[in-house]
Amino acid sequence: MRKFIFAKFSKKRSASASTSHRLPPTPTAWPLRPDGPAPAICDQLQSPLYGKLSAELRLLIYGLALGDPTRLLHICKNTWRRHRRVPVAHYRCTDTDSPFPTWQHTCFDVICNRRRAATPTEDKLLALLLTCRLVYHDALNILYEENIFHFQGAPAVKQLRTSLSSVQWRALRHVHISTEFVPLSAHPAHDINQTPLWPDERLDGWIGYCQCLREIPDLRTLRFEITMRAKDYMWVLKRVLEALQHLQARVFEVELNVDIPDDLLHELGTLRFQTIGKERPENEEVVLRAMTSFLQI
Ligand SMILES: [Zn+2]
Repeated sequence: MRKFIFAKFSKKRSASASTSHRLPPTPTAWPLRPDGPAPAICDQLQSPLYGKLSAELRLLIYGLALGDPTRLLHICKNTWRRHRRVPVAHYRCTDTDSPFPTWQHTCFDVICNRRRAATPTEDKLLALLLTCRLVYHDALNILYEENIFHFQGAPAVKQLRTSLSSVQWRALRHVHISTEFVPLSAHPAHDINQTPLWPDERLDGWIGYCQCLREIPDLRTLRFEITMRAKDYMWVLKRVLEALQHLQARVFEVELNVDIPDDLLHELGTLRFQTIGKERPENEEVVLRAMTSFLQI
């Protein structure tokens, strides 16, 4: 997302280079690093947005344009696009009534199909931010604070983290992760994680993904939706929950399709999260396409 914004600003700068009234170049770190110098910014009083409306009303407008408290903003691993790796793609959820695990929403059909170009920006979510420096400065945090970032598998957490500055990452307030732990052996599709439709969840990366979430200082809602299909899942569940015990949020919920045994509960001590037991049906269409894709690898 950040790379795209930089690219847009670079284009805007070069396009306006021929005019005599262009502003000085914007420092590349602005405003994503607080220690960077601020560029010259027009007051934009000729615009009714700044000339007539109060700051409070402007913030309400930005919130309505950039945020959505009801529909998830899906974040998932991206596909190759024009031979250039774009770390993550984002899409606003359109499958809000799905009974299936969230990572099996039909929303991901577009993103994860390697035959179609995926883009993180075709919903024009960033269009308002790109209108001028002043709007960008005033509204950037709203994009991160007022959306529910849903990750298709925890690896997407790391991918988004590496593509954002600390300022942006720490502005996140609502995070939802849905994922599945599949057996790594004794299963006909033991590498189904390699298909673009699967969350690619690996226990060895789990602690690192949780560490990324610990960097966010003021998480208001943190929801995990975890399906355990791993053979002998109990030791996997133990490692997963132990890592979650280091996280905190005002509302912290973990949905599981299995019960936590009493001895593990005793070992974990007081839970920092509320557990929700729920068995969601599998989206057979997604599973079938993943299996087909897996067999073609
Ligand atoms: Zn969706």
